[in-house]
Amino acid sequence: MSNSSSHDGAAGARPEHVDVVVVGAGFAGLYALHGLRERDLSARAFEEAGDVGGTWYWNRYPGARVDIESLQYCFHFSDVIREEWDWSERYASQPEILRYFDFVADRFDLRRDITFNSRVVSAVYSDEENLWTVTTDKGDVAQGTYCIMGTGLLSAPYQPPFPGVEDFRGEWYHSSRWPHEKVELSGKRVGVVGTGSTGIQIIQTIAPEVAHLTVFQRTPNYATPGINRPLSKDENRAFNARHDDWLREVHSMFSGQTSDFPAPTKSALEDSPEERRRWFQDRWDNGGHPQTLLYAYKDLLTDEKANETACNFVRETIRATVKDPVTAELMCPKDEPLGAKRVPLEFGYFETFNRDNVTLVDVKSAPIESFTENGLRTTNAEYELDVIIFATGFDAITGAMSAIDIRCKGGPTLKELWTEGPKNYLGLMIAGMPNLFIINGPGSAGIKANNVLGVEHGIEWALSTLDHLVGNGFDRIEADEQAEDEWIAHSNDVAEASLVSKAGSWYTGANIPGKPQVFMPYFGGWPQYREICKQAVADGYRGFHLSRSSERGDTARTQLQAADIGR
Ligand code: NAP
Repeated sequence: MSNSSSHDGAAGARPEHVDVVVVGAGFAGLYALHGLRERDLSARAFEEAGDVGGTWYWNRYPGARVDIESLQYCFHFSDVIREEWDWSERYASQPEILRYFDFVADRFDLRRDITFNSRVVSAVYSDEENLWTVTTDKGDVAQGTYCIMGTGLLSAPYQPPFPGVEDFRGEWYHSSRWPHEKVELSGKRVGVVGTGSTGIQIIQTIAPEVAHLTVFQRTPNYATPGINRPLSKDENRAFNARHDDWLREVHSMFSGQTSDFPAPTKSALEDSPEERRRWFQDRWDNGGHPQTLLYAYKDLLTDEKANETACNFVRETIRATVKDPVTAELMCPKDEPLGAKRVPLEFGYFETFNRDNVTLVDVKSAPIESFTENGLRTTNAEYELDVIIFATGFDAITGAMSAIDIRCKGGPTLKELWTEGPKNYLGLMIAGMPNLFIINGPGSAGIKANNVLGVEHGIEWALSTLDHLVGNGFDRIEADEQAEDEWIAHSNDVAEASLVSKAGSWYTGANIPGKPQVFMPYFGGWPQYREICKQAVADGYRGFHLSRSSERGDTARTQLQAADIGR
């Protein structure tokens, strides 16, 4: 396969010609490189960061840790990795996850195909040449017939544009651009803006260390307990021994995750209040990924009344934990269903607010107006701070791709195509963007399941599609526009049929002012999503156009039966 490698990683280098250009060196980029090499397809990956790890490279803030069990939140494609790697905790910390990335990159010698510290600024497809040209901010250029966008769904940080940041005399940080060196917080007055998963992890971790912690909360969250513990080598071995069974099981779970509890069969409304409380309490005490509580009953994500029983359970628990009743009430989420936003995992978060050195400030009723020389000013008061931490999230799912000038020569950019919300077919490919594979992007069920499974699914789909194209003499694949419309309509229908779209969040784009609001993940369930993607292939790549660039116009049009989607 093609590789006229002239790449030296230097600015102004001649274009490197490869079969596939890969963007990103997180889970998606690494698996893509490994799979391409196994097929003897040449590749060049570009990565903005200085090393592998994707979002885990950047999110080095205190307390960063995974919220899906480590044994599940990792690669599943390789026996070698599983046999040679042991997780040390039920929920691995960010440094351990980064060591895992390092291990995988070394084990498969992947770094030699990655150019680090190079942010991709454009990816332009030439129809004439059937070629993607990918350019970085350092002037590196790689050209390939195919392009895989492994840009990640939570990789473009969002920072609200508060005025006066430059006047602040203290230090400020965004959680997702945390320095590599230790940030000294002890004895300081620290403010944290944001109480999503990130803010919660930071707050519960730094509270014992700082002189005073001021938490600026706009919207409270239904956080559920993680309950972390060490994992022994034996537990790792035992999991590996039943890995095939686990994989079968997880692929049958709507949530795309397994838990210590069986899949629910009962409605929450079938049980008495006392039975329900016991049922919820068992799951709460076991801890675990938020899915455990969300799937305690079969209708918690579809029936408002059923959902409200779980909301009340969480609120009662918050009120019983947080001693100051005013603070407790502010921390109780209201007017939104449990599970519509991603539920953060907490490790002593609510108890943190019983400390004398922690204050909660409600910035819903009195929003932050600006930074000042000495801290932050809300419409109510000024807060003197030495350090301010933004835990204000991400331009999620579409942000990283939209920041790149992705287009077909002479055509609209991806950002322009997505002005009313992201469109694609099966979360895999975009009409008008041939040979561009998107990984765990909008429309993928992986976002609402386990991201790593979502990534593996996307990469495996791309790799097997490349096998099919190469094996059948094709070199071009593109999603059909009508299939895309049908898919988006189906995705919207399944989201509307549940409660997941009933709150604004990064799932819907509501966290970014001006972003079009659409529920972006696919919520028909992990098994159904996999089945739909599999069936489209089995039906001869239904909803895609496959062609040979040598026979321009001779399109192998597959029969579109978009009405079958979702059945
Ligand atoms: P997030 O859930 O979007 O939370 C951002 C927070 O910033 C929210 O509390 C938001 O308030 C607040 N905020 C934004 N703009 C503000 C403003 N102008 N004034 C005051 N507050 C403002 O982001 P995140 O916490 O980084 O989490 C994003 C996702 O990343 C998570 O849902 C999760 O999937 C993933 N994550 C996972 C882990 C893990 O445990 N593995 C850890 C961190 C993150 P509003 O809610 O009012 O908008």
